[in-house]
Amino acid sequence: MPDFFKPLTWSRNWAQHRQQNRPGCGLTSCSGPQTFWQRLRRRHTGTFLQGVFYCRPQCLETALTAQLSRLHVLAPAALPPNRIPLGLLMVARGKLTYIEVLAALEAQRRARYGKIGEWIENLGFATEQDVTSALALQWGCPVASSAVPSAIETASRIPLALLEAFQMLPLNYAPSTNTLYIAFGERVDHAALYAIEKILDCRTQPCVAPRKTVVRHLEHLRQQPRPSDVEFGPMNDFAEMSRISSSYIARLNPDEVRLSRLGRFIWLRLKVRTSATNLLFRLAPESPRPIVRPFRPVLSPRPQIEGSSHITK
Ligand SMILES: [Zn+2]
Repeated sequence: MPDFFKPLTWSRNWAQHRQQNRPGCGLTSCSGPQTFWQRLRRRHTGTFLQGVFYCRPQCLETALTAQLSRLHVLAPAALPPNRIPLGLLMVARGKLTYIEVLAALEAQRRARYGKIGEWIENLGFATEQDVTSALALQWGCPVASSAVPSAIETASRIPLALLEAFQMLPLNYAPSTNTLYIAFGERVDHAALYAIEKILDCRTQPCVAPRKTVVRHLEHLRQQPRPSDVEFGPMNDFAEMSRISSSYIARLNPDEVRLSRLGRFIWLRLKVRTSATNLLFRLAPESPRPIVRPFRPVLSPRPQIEGSSHITK
């Protein structure tokens, strides 16, 4: 073959290679560009949704509607059934008497608010440090050594309403391991961590921090402007959610869209180059929570204590 044909051969091989390694639009019913070169041009205008490329706004909206619909009807998440109740854990560790646990439970029942740990503290039966240590043991994760205010800017990646709903606080981010360290002031929610990992494309590592510390830092965050968070709802009309999302996507032209459900929220993150906009749909009360199985094993051994079934967590 003459040398001057070589560039054409190389070009054809390269095109075949790219076609094999970069599939076209993720929508099977897509009627958009069909040839490789047309699709290649479309890559400059298309968007990734959950890691799958969609060539046109219509394709993205169809896929987005399907995803929102799926998230919207997901059944409630199963609560971890195997955690030893906090009160009994503290009794086992000699931090409380059984009578004190009963008194705290009665106060909680009468007040109809607050976690059992909060009432144990309020009634003066144990210190916040004791409750935090027991909480860490209950969830099999460490106690945060400190909540460094300067590190809390990483919290801007997660909508404030979610941080408040789960009483969690991003403490630090380690770029070398792409790990976000998140402290919980109440229960450690592994389903929430899993959703955050999917949306932020990072690993998460939970820990437990004193409840009042988390509340104080969330209060501080509430005073800060958060122009990248946009919240809607309460609502249950996923077609409306899809219309709102599509409108933002058309306006912002994001490179990538990721979405997930966390408790009573559907969170969409629209990434535009180095910045991102968070759309948060607060679901109306009758909507169920998703089934997301905890992805981490219980790290601490669970002692068997009789009569634990009637003590609330
Ligand atoms: Zn398409």
